[in-house]
Amino acid sequence: QIIMGIETSCDETAVAVVKNGREILSNVVASQIESHKRFGGVVPEIASRHHVEEITIVLEEAMKQAKVTFQDIDAIAVTEGPGLVGALLIGVNAAKAVAFAHNIPLLGVHHIAGHIYANRLLEELEFPLLALVVSGGHTELVYMEEHGSFKVIGETRDDAAGEAYDKVARTLNLPYPGGPHIDRLAHEGSPTINLPRAWLEEDSYDFSFSGLKSAVINTLHNAEQRGETIDPKDLAASFQESVIDVLVTKTVKAAKKYQVKQVLLAGGVAANKGLRTALEEGFSDVEGMKLIIPPLSLCTDNAAMIAAVGSVLYEKGKRASFALNANPGLDIEQGLLK
Ligand code: ATP
Ligand code: MG
Ligand code: FE
Repeated sequence: QIIMGIETSCDETAVAVVKNGREILSNVVASQIESHKRFGGVVPEIASRHHVEEITIVLEEAMKQAKVTFQDIDAIAVTEGPGLVGALLIGVNAAKAVAFAHNIPLLGVHHIAGHIYANRLLEELEFPLLALVVSGGHTELVYMEEHGSFKVIGETRDDAAGEAYDKVARTLNLPYPGGPHIDRLAHEGSPTINLPRAWLEEDSYDFSFSGLKSAVINTLHNAEQRGETIDPKDLAASFQESVIDVLVTKTVKAAKKYQVKQVLLAGGVAANKGLRTALEEGFSDVEGMKLIIPPLSLCTDNAAMIAAVGSVLYEKGKRASFALNANPGLDIEQGLLK
């Protein structure tokens, strides 16, 4: 079974070919970061235009690298949401065009399900499992009882973790996207500045990062007014420690409560070195649970993860019609197999 994945939900134009849901034959990603950098964030209109320019080139390259023709492809899986509507539309329409022209089944995939299923490219999933999803737009703990079923047991009430990283980076005059820069600085500094941790209610698995972000900004401004300087390395280290402390503590607690077999890390912020190490430490003494952490190339947006979800949908007989449309507000809890 060979599935083509197409992903255009944000600022990466990506096409991949995956065999039997787990084996990557090709995984091509054209990043637009350079075009958005000078604006300090993704500009939706620019993203859409780049997707239009790149999609056929990336698709051809992915097929070439995988050494497949359209006859070899059993289904085309495309991200239908969530994401930027104009960006999603390019992928959805490209997928529909190819599916129609070559008479190939079409499948719609939830972008965050994709981030979670990136882990299946490393290891077969075992249920029940818990996924910590930390990306540019999402921060949530997702419980899965079986393929295609998702229960959000906790989520951010304000900023996503990646968003907080990017905003703090901007305050420190670091380029977009700020996550990797803060990560690097954090390793050069020490967490000497006292910053808040939003634990919320005792039993809550929800997160909140806007207070932390404001505390970072206030710390900088207050120091400025007193004519003092703050070492950005120490500030980055303190911020990163606060984010990681809450993420890891809540993930370990939820994993124990739900008695899961596997814990998966997913989303762009999963590329964070500090988070990866802290999670490994957090689960090192937890018996009977396997922690899976994807390589960096599968943490950030890519299409292999979309094909990985597509493989399961295809296997279960799910097919999308040509009425498939971009859905920026797609809800993961609706499940993929209904
Ligand atoms: P979503 O998946 O929620 O729709 P997105 O697709 O834009 O959002 P991703 O591409 O999954 O998000 O992740 C991008 C985010 O990951 C950015 O906010 C970026 O700063 C962050 N990020 C990337 N590398 C690191 C890192 N090493 N440390 C912290 N954050 C990082
Ligand atoms: Mg991105
Ligand atoms: Fe993403």
